[in-house]
Amino acid sequence: MQTVLPKEVLTCHNMICGEWVQGELGSFDVISPYHAQKIGVATLPSKNQIDQALEFAHKAQKNWGKTPIKERSQVLYNFRNILIRDLDSIAHLKSAECGKTFGEARAGLMKGLEVLEFALSLQNLDLGGKLEGARGVSCEYRREPLGVVANITPFNFPGMVPMWTIPICLALGNAYVWKPSDKTPLTALKIANALVEAGLPRGLFTVLHGGIESVHAIIDHPQVKAIGFVGSTKVAQAVYQRGTHLGKRVLALGGAKNHIVLLPDANLELSGLGISDSFTGCAGQRCMAASVLLAVGNVEPHIQKIIERASSLKLGSEMGALITQTQKDFLIGAIERIEKAGAKILLDGRRLQVPQGYENGYWLGPTIIDQVFPGSEAASVELFGPILSIVRCKDLSEAMKIENSVEYGNACSVFTSSGALADRVVR
Ligand code: NAD
Repeated sequence: MQTVLPKEVLTCHNMICGEWVQGELGSFDVISPYHAQKIGVATLPSKNQIDQALEFAHKAQKNWGKTPIKERSQVLYNFRNILIRDLDSIAHLKSAECGKTFGEARAGLMKGLEVLEFALSLQNLDLGGKLEGARGVSCEYRREPLGVVANITPFNFPGMVPMWTIPICLALGNAYVWKPSDKTPLTALKIANALVEAGLPRGLFTVLHGGIESVHAIIDHPQVKAIGFVGSTKVAQAVYQRGTHLGKRVLALGGAKNHIVLLPDANLELSGLGISDSFTGCAGQRCMAASVLLAVGNVEPHIQKIIERASSLKLGSEMGALITQTQKDFLIGAIERIEKAGAKILLDGRRLQVPQGYENGYWLGPTIIDQVFPGSEAASVELFGPILSIVRCKDLSEAMKIENSVEYGNACSVFTSSGALADRVVR
């Protein structure tokens, strides 16, 4: 199924005190990566508006925190049913604003629903307990809501990443403040409206748009007790430092450069499909994407399979677009630099045919680059696009030495038919 792009320009204000409020600091356009046209406008809140929203959230949380978890869960149960009802329309909008395929956008929401279903089970879990501290002394511990909890999310999963935290924060009695990516603010419209329709009391869900200024105003506000962040490593570190310096709890997830170890005994079909889909899924714009292939020994037939699969993908329906023209220019520049440094292009995504009618979109086809050296740009910098760099390794020990020297830590995979070798890599 193809993504249906919005026919009209959507406006997304800020959800402040339970209502959509126009930001006082102007607005910014939302451009669809599919055709580089404006599909939305989001408005920017002033510091005063952010303060007002957070004070209101703080007051609203007091009642919500006292509401029994079974009643809070009922609202989330309604939220789940509304999301399921509206799944396709939300997926189309997500796909339109971030360039994913419709299938990827839908799958991301399904993952979000899994978290929501987990959150619904929290009412049946132990939320406290008692200890006998000493003779005549008993201690009781309880899980209490923190208060107002903020989350700052990236462009590449506009629905799934926020859903990692929204259901759990709300089920456990907190007020939730969301600062979506300034590249993909529109999905927030659908999620916030679904929560309102589900019966969530005003003030418990706040949406604030913008970039660094909004993020700083949120982190610094005294009523914000905890901050979740998902995005690039540099910003993750800055958010972590700012929040923890103020004594707040911060969970910050950053970028990645995921390596795959490929051994000659790996199943040809499975490795061809798995490795190709890993680096091309979400056009390589995901933190779990394969980025470097550590090719051990003679794996030529496997590499041919990867090329075969990747070059068969149709842009638009089977592989999405890049988020911005700037990102496309960056990737094309990187491919040129890598080529000049002596690497060999096995599959050149710059030459891929762009879907008809979407010629202005931010497309780059799957690109496979061989003879890349460890430590070079292609092997160590998070490029965030459909690019697979191949580093040739004489044996598994060399591959593991390279893998273990990578500064990122999201994921590592191994393709082999040997359980013993797989176990060695995993360890
Ligand atoms: P980003 O760091 O540019 O932006 C993330 C969020 O921070 C956005 O809401 C953005 O508006 C805000 N922001 C941007 N610059 C800021 C600044 N200077 N100060 C404060 N806030 C700022 O990331 P992105 O480009 O939206 O997302 C891609 C990155 O996210 C990649 O590095 C990817 O690996 C990472 N990511 C990681 C995970 C994970 O689970 N580890 C999941 C998804 C994405």
